[in-house]
Parts: sequence; structure tokens; C-alpha cells
Amino acid sequence: MANRKQHKGPCYLCGKETTRGYMGRHLLADHLGPDGDQACYLLKIEDEYRNYWLFIDIPVSSTLLTLDTFLRAVWLECCGHMSAFMPLRSYDNDYGMNKKIGSFLPGTVIQYEYDFGSTTTLYITFVQETTRKKQKNAVRVLARNDPYTFTCERCGKPATQVDAAEWPAVMLCEECAEEAEEEGYILPIVNSPRMGVCGYCGEFDVYKYKPKAR
Ligand SMILES: [Zn+2]
Ligand SMILES: [Zn+2]
Ligand SMILES: [Zn+2]
Repeated sequence: MANRKQHKGPCYLCGKETTRGYMGRHLLADHLGPDGDQACYLLKIEDEYRNYWLFIDIPVSSTLLTLDTFLRAVWLECCGHMSAFMPLRSYDNDYGMNKKIGSFLPGTVIQYEYDFGSTTTLYITFVQETTRKKQKNAVRVLARNDPYTFTCERCGKPATQVDAAEWPAVMLCEECAEEAEEEGYILPIVNSPRMGVCGYCGEFDVYKYKPKAR
């Protein structure tokens, strides 16, 4: 896939564009601290190929089920597949969905799988405990990778669709996707590690970055 060296994305709190590697430090140094009303955990979430990433905070009193609901909305939900959290590279003993976010030690990395057929695997790092001003939604998105851009593999125009009937999937523009529709399996290009898998269209992703008007 194109353009994979650049892993930058915006900080949702101040708009600063930086790399995944630096973003955690930026959030801790410039935004998050011990003085807020609500005890939270800063989490880093990546797909197994480390192309897509998110930083979020979530109350320590929340459960893995809350995190599962968020992950489905932002990146994964196509048709209600099963999912599980588990220790890294451990496939037979998963954590219960009622396990509390605050029960993990800082620095712990766990694995998450959505759909046990065409599986999307994520890694979740419990970075550090922090606080924030109390808010209604459990999960707050703090940063996310910029969407990748692709060019149509048939004509070179900007691609918007992916033909998942081919492997590896073929990126197509609107027109070439229309032509390919009969034999192809056309899905939209989305900012998610589940792009082109099963029937994933990204319709529940309400977490896209909206720069504040200056
Ligand atoms: Zn920032
Ligand atoms: Zn599905
Ligand atoms: Zn094209």
C-alpha cells in the first residue's frame, strides 16, 4: 500500500501534527496531568501492521466492554462479529469484558481481536494513568493518524474505493470502481485497519479530526 512511511497525525486538543512515536510524549507533557477530576488511563491503540493508530483516554473505572464498543465504532464494526481482549500472543485465555481498565499496570500491552474469521488484530498499550475534566462520553480521542491517500491503480487519479475481490486489494477511483463493479467487490477507502475486509464501510466512525476554525 502507498505512503506507509509517514505515520503522522493531529493532536485533537491543539492541532499539532506529529508522529505516533512522539504523540504520547506530547500529550503527557502538554495536555494531561494528575490534577483533573476524573482518573483516566492514556491508551495507545495500533493495528498489527502499525499503519493505523489512536491515542485515547478512558476512565480507570471503565471496563474492557466500553473499550470494545469504542473500537467497533471507530475502526471495526461491519456485521457484529465476536471480539476478545487477551494477553499478547495468547490465543486461549482472553480477559473477561468486565475487567476494569485500571487493573492493568502502566506499560502493559495487550492484544485485541475482532472477528475470528477475517480477523483484525490490534495492540493496546496502557501508557500511563492521567486525569481529565469529567465528561459524558467514556472515551475521548486525543490523536489519530492522518488518513492515507491512494491513487487509482488503473488510471492514476485519486482513489476512493477498494476492490477487495483481488488480493492484495486494488485501489480505484470512482469511475474505475464503477467499471470493476460487476466482477469486483467494491468497498470505500476508510481510515481504518479493517478497510477492504468483510463489508466494512466505516459508517460508525464519528471520530474524524475536525480542525477548529481559526
Ligand atoms: Zn496537543
Ligand atoms: Zn463482517
Ligand atoms: Zn481510475
